[in-house]
Amino acid sequence: MYAYLHSDSGWGHSNAGVVVSGGETLLVDTQYTLPMTRQLIAALEMAGLPPVATLVTTHANGDHCWGNGLFPAADIVASAATASAMPHDFPPATMRRLLSEELAATAAGRYTRQHFADFDFDGIVVVPPTSTFTGVQERAVGGRTVVLIEVGPAHSDGDVIVHVPDAGLVFAGDILFSDHPVMWAGPLQNWISACDRILQTGATRIVPGHGPVVGPQGVRDFRGYLELVSSELRQRFDAGVPYWIAATELPLGPYEDLALRERLVATAAVEYHHLGAAKIPPPEVLERMGQAYIDASRN
Ligand SMILES: [Zn+2]
Repeated sequence: MYAYLHSDSGWGHSNAGVVVSGGETLLVDTQYTLPMTRQLIAALEMAGLPPVATLVTTHANGDHCWGNGLFPAADIVASAATASAMPHDFPPATMRRLLSEELAATAAGRYTRQHFADFDFDGIVVVPPTSTFTGVQERAVGGRTVVLIEVGPAHSDGDVIVHVPDAGLVFAGDILFSDHPVMWAGPLQNWISACDRILQTGATRIVPGHGPVVGPQGVRDFRGYLELVSSELRQRFDAGVPYWIAATELPLGPYEDLALRERLVATAAVEYHHLGAAKIPPPEVLERMGQAYIDASRN
């Protein structure tokens, strides 16, 4: 088992995982860009691993699957919901537009530049899965069993976690973050259930989509964050507080020091929709999130 980890847990720096057995390699997630994915491939080669026969895409966000095109021989597996979402998930052309001069004066443009300007989106072709599933699927890798468990919609529409029972390990994809998470699909209650599903496996090591490897307590702490945010947002929704103000003012208790607090704006917009508010168009959410970041940097 290997985990490919970044020291930077922020936007676009996602972890990958590897299961090796009997001359076969299964890879969990690629990287955001082609150069970053080539670095991942070089690391696999350096470790002397067999070629990747199976590639699991945990969800449709680009930082987990835009390197898929560099694995032309692999069977690419994802949930059916992820396969449907992949072509529409902030495609490379949208990222280029957000980084363009045209939007440079907007809060969304400024925020995107701050967090995404260093990524090279050239040459990316969003490559869909070759196999899809719903629910639970067991896969054999050499002599080992790997269990793919669909837990979405939670962070995104089609989240999958990868459980390796004989190693007591779960690759959690973006069901687990070390910073403030961002919720694109929700509701938060589904995400809380996804955390419970990780805990039910009894795994002792859990590899998040972003951040360092944790044990079960790390999952319980993160679940506590989701519970807190769920309850605080509901109170503010019921009181008629706008989502972007709710996101900025809600008390975070033990989670006050987590990075990327502005992500709560996007999470709140989605959770409010589940509570009955109109769906907020992504450009508006991004603008509000960028503004929250700019306001917080001023203080
Ligand atoms: Zn991610």
